[in-house]
Amino acid sequence: MPPLEAALYVVATPIGNLADLGARARDVLAGADWLAVEDTRRTGQLLTSLGLSKRMRSLHEHNEAARVPELLGRLAAGESVALLSDAGTPLVSDPGYRLVSAAAAEGLPVIPVPGPCAAIAALSVAGLPTDSFYFAGFLPARAAARRRRLQALAGERATLVFYETARRIDASLAALADEFGGDRPAVLCRELSKRHETIYRGSLASLPALLAADPGGHRGEMTLVVGGAPAAAAAEAELRRVFGILAGELPPARAASLAARIAGGRRADAYRLAGLQDED
Ligand code: SAM
Repeated sequence: MPPLEAALYVVATPIGNLADLGARARDVLAGADWLAVEDTRRTGQLLTSLGLSKRMRSLHEHNEAARVPELLGRLAAGESVALLSDAGTPLVSDPGYRLVSAAAAEGLPVIPVPGPCAAIAALSVAGLPTDSFYFAGFLPARAAARRRRLQALAGERATLVFYETARRIDASLAALADEFGGDRPAVLCRELSKRHETIYRGSLASLPALLAADPGGHRGEMTLVVGGAPAAAAAEAELRRVFGILAGELPPARAASLAARIAGGRRADAYRLAGLQDED
């Protein structure tokens, strides 16, 4: 294989099934001077399965800022660096953003080596619209922050994708049903590409029972895909959001009629939200 061009390669790795590592990813891992990896032990296992032994530098949430100058120096000196996370595509709810952005700002080449990503794999099988989607990552762990985040997302028309953990899935589904309504279509993808891969299809209200009925339902890695807000729900969510802001500053009737003008909704609906009668 010819030597690699000196560059930062952003390499996607399998999210479960090692056979999903592409031939190009394998070549880049074999040819790179350095691997910048989230966890040297985890990547070490992947390298062993490939029969490779490489020089690695750890790059994770807690040391990324400090590691960037060293890695940029190596790139500037003409060495090649492959960036990997534990699984899937780096930077997608994973470290690497600071390194990529710093390399790009220095005019150093940044080359993607595309491959597995749980969010895209889940979207590809969910059967929900994909012409537009919103990747929401992990919801906040604390209930109040999670609720605020969901209220901000309730009017989103695009299909939503969330990363979740088995431990929090029940709390998140309950909060989602509360804020979005239980009827929204929802698809939970568990252990994609692995032996216990399971796809649960239903609504926000029906998924908890499907998970509870499966002995393995609360194990492994999970990605949740939720249908976007229907037009009427999106309009109401926006009206509610704008009214909520204005009501903190203005008398209710004034806040309601301004909210209707700003959000483009009906004044009667804004008055209803404010608990008022529209006298016109
Ligand atoms: N960068 C990764 C990617 O491209 O998918 C995601 C990293 S994020 C820290 C890990 C989360 O991705 C898990 O908590 C889970 O929500 C999701 N995930 C990863 N592997 C998965 C799998 N095999 N099946 C379903 N979801 C998965």
